[in-house]
Amino acid sequence: MTTTLYEPERFRSQAYLSMIDEHDSTAQIHIPESCLHQLSHQAEAGYPLEICGLLIGSLNDSQWQVSEIRPVENLNKERAADRFQLDPAGYQAIDKELRGSGQEIIGVFHSHPDCPARPSPTDLQSAWEGFAYPIISVCDGKVAELRCWEVNHKGDRFRSVTINNETST
Ligand SMILES: [Zn+2]
Repeated sequence: MTTTLYEPERFRSQAYLSMIDEHDSTAQIHIPESCLHQLSHQAEAGYPLEICGLLIGSLNDSQWQVSEIRPVENLNKERAADRFQLDPAGYQAIDKELRGSGQEIIGVFHSHPDCPARPSPTDLQSAWEGFAYPIISVCDGKVAELRCWEVNHKGDRFRSVTINNETST
């Protein structure tokens, strides 16, 4: 899979490259096929705007287990092509609903219309340690690549997280 066709200059700048750790994470994320389809569908349906939402599931032994995908509104309407701002009310409602269910919010996904599936400095500013951050690259309205990221404990770099979608866990 190649997305080099859509790599705006800024993605090759030092500011972008320096916040990606060359060492991949030892953590893994398991995303069931049905959830991958949902992510792709939402990202393509929202194109050319950025879509975002939450991953619901659990975290055990450096493995995120996704059980559900929940779209949340992107409140950034002015720059919805390249910025996202997850609706806090949507977040809180889902967080409240999950209390006592054994499931929790484990990550935030968003799309990058006509851009690589690599995080931007803006993504770093809003990233929380312990959360998984899938990014879906959508080029010309079609999903080109899906990658997942996590932020280090200093909050200054992203590491690539392996996505595993086998049906058995
Ligand atoms: Zn982003």
